[in-house]
Amino acid sequence: MTTDTLHVACPHCGATNRLPAGRIDEAPACGRCGKDLLQGQPLELTDANFDAVVGATRHPVLVDFWAPWCGPCRMMAPAFEQAGRQLTGRALLVKVNSDENPALSQRYGIRSIPTLLRLDRGRETKRQSGAVPVGAIVALASG
Ligand SMILES: [Zn+2]
Repeated sequence: MTTDTLHVACPHCGATNRLPAGRIDEAPACGRCGKDLLQGQPLELTDANFDAVVGATRHPVLVDFWAPWCGPCRMMAPAFEQAGRQLTGRALLVKVNSDENPALSQRYGIRSIPTLLRLDRGRETKRQSGAVPVGAIVALASG
């Protein structure tokens, strides 16, 4: 089943917001507290909503393929979030749990994690395997 609606937890008040993929570039506000819903917060995407979200943004998309059991993935998570804050308004940062989303892992041929992909208008333009620091993540999304 595919869906173009995301459920996003507000980073400020914790409220769960229903967010249509088509509004991803509009700096959507939290329905409860009114603050920026996506600021500095990578979106967790799935096989079901990935295409709708990636197709709805005009910005480059950085995809972090990860899994909960992967130590280097967990180590890199804070850097990915920090890069997301630095790239607010310039790139969309998303995370895909490779265990729970086998269709996406297969489509992009993910053989090790963490792997970062950059997509421009849905096409892969860069790839980086292994944990990398904030600067490298920002560089991947820039230029
Ligand atoms: Zn809120």
